[in-house]
Amino acid sequence: MDNFNVNEMTLEKAIDFFKDNVGALVIADSKTNSYKPVVRRGIFNKLVAESGGKYHDLLEKLWYHLSKTSDTVSEKYQSFVMTSGSFSGKYSRKVEVMVEDIAYIVQVSIYPLKEKETYLFILDELDDSQSMEETLTTQKVKTFQNTYLFSMYIDLVKDTIHGISVTELSDDVINQELKYTQWRMMIVNAINSDYRDQFLEWSDPDYLKEKFDPGQTASFDCLMTNLEGIEIWVKLIFSRVGTSNPDDYRYIYMVQNINEEAQELRNTLAQYADRASKDPLTAIYNHGRMETEINNALIDKVAKGEAVSIMIMDIDFFKHVNDNYGHAVGDDTLRHFAALLSDYLNKNNGVVGRWGGEEFVAVCYGADREKAAAIAEDIRQKVAAENFAVVGNITCSIGVTTLNTSDDFERAYRRMDNALYEAKSSGRNCVRLA
Ligand code: GH3
Ligand code: MG
Ligand code: MG
Repeated sequence: MDNFNVNEMTLEKAIDFFKDNVGALVIADSKTNSYKPVVRRGIFNKLVAESGGKYHDLLEKLWYHLSKTSDTVSEKYQSFVMTSGSFSGKYSRKVEVMVEDIAYIVQVSIYPLKEKETYLFILDELDDSQSMEETLTTQKVKTFQNTYLFSMYIDLVKDTIHGISVTELSDDVINQELKYTQWRMMIVNAINSDYRDQFLEWSDPDYLKEKFDPGQTASFDCLMTNLEGIEIWVKLIFSRVGTSNPDDYRYIYMVQNINEEAQELRNTLAQYADRASKDPLTAIYNHGRMETEINNALIDKVAKGEAVSIMIMDIDFFKHVNDNYGHAVGDDTLRHFAALLSDYLNKNNGVVGRWGGEEFVAVCYGADREKAAAIAEDIRQKVAAENFAVVGNITCSIGVTTLNTSDDFERAYRRMDNALYEAKSSGRNCVRLA
């Protein structure tokens, strides 16, 4: 194609020149948003409609990297599709396109025709041998497309944006005819609403000018809708191009797909949070977590008028279990006891944790004094009736108190502990209220 002179191109010449050796030849008219194929072969029979169609539909298929599962660009990006498609010079690019769930690498070359806003699209499927030769480039395209969803060059002085060619095959940048300041107000819609304010702050020309020294890069993570309309985690990267001129404000903007790492990180964080709040022996909440539960209950529920009671359950003469059957049996008994408590309390709007040793604490939501007493009595009876492996029957004593609006954690705890002391000194295997 090197001996082809773009400036002298007429439609007739172009068709003659290309028609025998290309996958498809398409005439596109940006003004009327239409295209018409002159030649179609192979996969292009499916990619390009015989009777032609809307120019932007063709661009959407060629320009936007869509996964197997979707064949249209998410509505959040439709405005971008509508603004793309103006080319000021010859443009060439390799793209991966999906045809009936199979990915093909297609070489797209675009020649502006003499008549303004009309273009000749030359499409070629790279066959296996060409693909082999092109493996490096192809992989680069794929890696880049998968890792960096989008990259752009911004000039704040001119208020312009240019798509950056990832393939290094392009002679000219795309003329998006879109100002940077317009672009940022369009792309913000694809950003999850929790992060929109931050995006608008960071992408503000004044902010970029003020905060970024030449060569400086910064990024933040957020949720963003991708081309297929799926919300994923991305890293938005802003980088000011190095310059010795303080009035030169050029930036690179990139969107990196970090969805997998972000999901992994969130799982790890959730695991750590879980581990930090659980008692390793019984796998129910630990002391610290229960203290938080009580504090939260005071602020979240009690202050708002909800009835909440707390109780402490202490196994009677547990020392004997260890002494008579050994520590391992003691541990099994504690696990069994914990499981019994959490089974029952989970069904009764309660949360239970191990306070330490053979003491357990529960927070009972929606339980006033009367209801809490009934719950505690239920637990006492269930424990007394339960058959524990090796040790047989055990009993527990329970101290109960209802939280009130003048409580803090210490006061509430003291009352509950005093009630337990009462239960112990009244002969054990009983419930006392304070
Ligand atoms: P009381 O009826 O007055 O509560 O008598 P008690 O024997 O249950 O109370 P005490 O506080 O004297 O003894 C608690 C025992 O719990 C002592 C300790 O060895 C045992 N214990 C504490 N933590 C564990 C544990 O993790 N595993 C086992 N096996 N025993 C434990
Ligand atoms: Mg005890
Ligand atoms: Mg004890």
